[in-house]
Amino acid sequence: MVDITNLKVYTKDFLDGIDNKVLYGSKCQACGNFEVPAKVICTKCQSPDLELVEVKPEGKIAAFTCIGVGTTHFVQKGYSMKKPYCVVIVELENGQMISGQLIGGDITYDENQDPLIGGKPIKVGAPVVGEYEEYIEVIEGKRGGRQEKKRCRLVFRLK
Ligand SMILES: [Zn+2]
Repeated sequence: MVDITNLKVYTKDFLDGIDNKVLYGSKCQACGNFEVPAKVICTKCQSPDLELVEVKPEGKIAAFTCIGVGTTHFVQKGYSMKKPYCVVIVELENGQMISGQLIGGDITYDENQDPLIGGKPIKVGAPVVGEYEEYIEVIEGKRGGRQEKKRCRLVFRLK
């Protein structure tokens, strides 16, 4: 049974890290397991005795997909079948995986229908580096209140 009354790391810590332009993984103090993104309990031994570890958001593309029918968020940003966006799964230095949008220009296709971003080929194994894209989150209160909060999201760019 996992004791959740004694957590040391919370999901909020990971999200606050992104907002402060820091990517956090978690290292288990009981078994040494290291995970990115940071977890609240170790997925190997279920210990809540974790410590946040700063991780460099750099690695290589492990998988990717170009999306024409996107989520509401991306549709509102102007993406469509005619203007697709690309999401990558990035393998970090220690083999951990994290996903994010690949930025760096419009998605086009070469003569073999292989995707390009800003004219550069998108390929498994291509090195990428993370950046923190700032945006304003608008929070509409149930009673009409409205708050704006400066936030960040992790995106990737071909190196
Ligand atoms: Zn563990």
